Amino acid sequence: MTSLPQRLQRSRLSAVCIASSAYLLYALLTALIDPPGPFPGAYQTPKYWATLVPLVTVIGTLIWPHRLREIYTFSTVGYLLVALLEIPRAIAWGAMPMHLTLWLMLNVLVSYLVFGARIGTTVNIVSVVGMIVSVVANGPVDPPNLVDWITASLAIGTTGLLAYLLTAFIEQNLDEHHEDTRRLRAARLDALTEVYGRGAAEEEFERARDAAQRMGTALSIILTDIDHFKRVNDGHGHAAGDDVLRAFGKRLRRSVSGGGGVVGRWGGEEFIVLLPGVSGTDAYAVAERLRQEVAGEPVAGLPVTASFGVASYRGAQDDAMTLFSRADSALYEAKRAGRNAVR
Ligand code: GH3
Ligand code: MG
Ligand code: MG
Repeated sequence: MTSLPQRLQRSRLSAVCIASSAYLLYALLTALIDPPGPFPGAYQTPKYWATLVPLVTVIGTLIWPHRLREIYTFSTVGYLLVALLEIPRAIAWGAMPMHLTLWLMLNVLVSYLVFGARIGTTVNIVSVVGMIVSVVANGPVDPPNLVDWITASLAIGTTGLLAYLLTAFIEQNLDEHHEDTRRLRAARLDALTEVYGRGAAEEEFERARDAAQRMGTALSIILTDIDHFKRVNDGHGHAAGDDVLRAFGKRLRRSVSGGGGVVGRWGGEEFIVLLPGVSGTDAYAVAERLRQEVAGEPVAGLPVTASFGVASYRGAQDDAMTLFSRADSALYEAKRAGRNAVR
């Protein structure tokens, strides 16, 4: 499943490609209906060389989709330059540059989508001010034509305002979405060890068990408990005990997350490791490796060992409870056998 920011980025890319392709289509169709005359003279008009801008934009976004902002910065500057060069010609001609208005409106809209509310507003203001300055500088304009220019400026400005409201709305919701995701993640983690907390671990366990049944794949779980942890607390203090728990959780996570393993704190100094797709024999080997890693190197500076109980999913009759109690019995066996052991 793709994330919300990824989907938004895809929409941005599509919007840029559609708008740019539309300009190319417009240039092509109008050139067919109303041929621009002999080359090169006619093709020196901004409308025709402006086709280079959408052409570069479309090709650029296809080759470097992650450079969309840079590419569209080029496009925006290009479109504004074309607009400013077209305005004196349009005034001299005396007619309303309908196509120019529409393309500027489209550019303002897409600019907001690509650059966001703040920079989009700058682009919008520059477009409208640029148009007004150019009209005034190249005037005087007859009153009927002036009405058209005012209409065009207002249409572009209004489009910009609506695009601003829409973009600001999207951005605010995106911020809230990020915050919700962060909170949700934090709520699922155990505050001390930053592995999954009990609730999330149970959820993941149920989900893994259901997936194993649905897809007929293997699933193993390892239950592990630090040996004589009470002595750590009694001998070195509760804070040192906390450090050991943190380091122990981190070591488990580092050791199994590469293979798709999931670690949760089941309670106190007891942790669960879910190993989707891993058979009993392999899970036993993983547990043995973990046991050696813990015993072989001090955890948070203290020499500790842990005991491990392994159990594997056996088929539809094996619900999460049954599977868990097998791992629990195996752990109990490991403790009874003298601890620092795997069963
Ligand atoms: P065993 O080898 O049989 O597992 O012995 P043990 O001492 O590890 O087992 P026991 O269950 O008797 O003691 C677990 C201790 O873990 C008791 C409790 O104070 C301590 N503990 C539980 N949660 C925390 C915690 O969050 N931080 C710290 N520092 N200690 C904790
Ligand atoms: Mg213990
Ligand atoms: Mg315990």
